[in-house]
Amino acid sequence: MDLIVGGGISGLSYAAARKDNYLLIEADQQLGGYCKTVRQDGFVWDYSGHFFHFQHPELRDFVMQNIADDEMLTVEKHTQILYGDRHIDFPFQMNIHQLPQEEFIDCLYDLFTANPDADTDSFKGMLYAKFGRSIAEKFLIPYNTKLYATDLDRLDKDAMGRFFPYANKEQIVRNFRQARGYSYNATFLYPREGCMRIVDSIASHVDSSRVSMQETLLSVDTERHLAFTNRRNLHYDRLISTMPLPKLLDICGMEYNKSAYTWNKVLVLNLGFDSKGPERVNNWIYVPESRYLFYRVGFYDNIIGQNRTSLYVEIGFAQDQPIGDINNLLKSTLNDLEQAGIINGQRLVAWHYVVMNPAYVHITKQAEIDKAMRMQQLAERGIYSIGRYGEWKYCSLEDNIFDAFQLANRLEKK
Ligand SMILES: Cc1cc2nc3c(=O)[nH]c(=O)nc-3n(C[C@H](O)[C@H](O)[C@H](O)COP(=O)(O)OP(=O)(O)OC[C@H]3O[C@@H](n4cnc5c(N)ncnc54)[C@H](O)[C@@H]3O)c2cc1C
Repeated sequence: MDLIVGGGISGLSYAAARKDNYLLIEADQQLGGYCKTVRQDGFVWDYSGHFFHFQHPELRDFVMQNIADDEMLTVEKHTQILYGDRHIDFPFQMNIHQLPQEEFIDCLYDLFTANPDADTDSFKGMLYAKFGRSIAEKFLIPYNTKLYATDLDRLDKDAMGRFFPYANKEQIVRNFRQARGYSYNATFLYPREGCMRIVDSIASHVDSSRVSMQETLLSVDTERHLAFTNRRNLHYDRLISTMPLPKLLDICGMEYNKSAYTWNKVLVLNLGFDSKGPERVNNWIYVPESRYLFYRVGFYDNIIGQNRTSLYVEIGFAQDQPIGDINNLLKSTLNDLEQAGIINGQRLVAWHYVVMNPAYVHITKQAEIDKAMRMQQLAERGIYSIGRYGEWKYCSLEDNIFDAFQLANRLEKK
């Protein structure tokens, strides 16, 4: 029997591919993991805006099988950066011509005198090497430091993998005249009723009699293939875990390099107002300046077409940093939203918050080295750790489905 730990997108996708001889346990009272939707006072909010990009048509078909066309919106992505008192199109490096002239010249000069082939291992080093000092210091470093809540020197140069919008000099200059809206994806899909619709669709492929809710894996005897939960002891042939890798290693009693694994946590504030705010075209904006609490603000009302402002606001914290008093944070956030011109006198009528912990794992050399060793040791014991946190990586929901299917196929052939 395959014991699947976690009913987020990864665990559900693995179960859907497995068809039988499995049991899925989920600690929470609801499936979905981080891909959950909250409905409150007429507002539809996700844990944090979850938007979908499919690179694999067969995965899109799988997810869409149980979703009617009119339930899914295809949205042309329009994202900007709040930069001083103006908005610059995202990504910053492709749109430096929208800066005030002096700053534009600085960015261009530094871009052309940078050394993109410089030997560097760190994320911060990569930013300086590829884009030059001005682009790095005006946006890329302050924004990503706010998001990751750590010194970017600690992160590996490929910490964001394919999600980092690279651009060379030619692409940047060409964009001055032929804006291609260059970013990592030009459109995205979003279910009118929130991202949970995707979870429901995947869950419909899963045998509900093989799902046990509010059951938490507490410890594992890896020698005897025994899993101890808050309800019972379970014998498994293979254990497929989607819980964060360091936690799994802890409950398996395995040695590992604890200090190598660090991450940020993100406080998401979902805010509903009584009326529509200032007219805007963007779906979300990036906020690099440290005078504002948040690093990103998204506009559900623009994405799903609503006549009341509906926002998600994301604030990054270091893993050990206390969140503090939530009411004070809400007050400061509303104040910052006014200062930034994002709201203008509207009245807050509903709100909700969630802390995603971990949210963005820190991809570092030490963690990558330790992870490779531990994954090998786990596999030798019939344990497979998958998912964004199970594999300790930066990835999308589609990647989670893809990886879960791949593993199910691989194990089936064994
Ligand atoms: C701020 C933010 C924004 C994002 N936006 C996007 C986006 O726009 N588009 C996109 O494609 N992706 C986005 N992502 C990524 C996406 O959320 C993840 O890739 C995906 O949700 C990971 O799913 P998972 O199943 O691997 O893990 P999770 O969602 O973490 O699911 C793990 C499950 O395991 C359960 N569990 C944990 N421990 C135990 C235990 N001991 N026993 C039993 N159950 C347990 C948990 O309760 C949870 O349900 C975003 C992520 C963040 C943090």
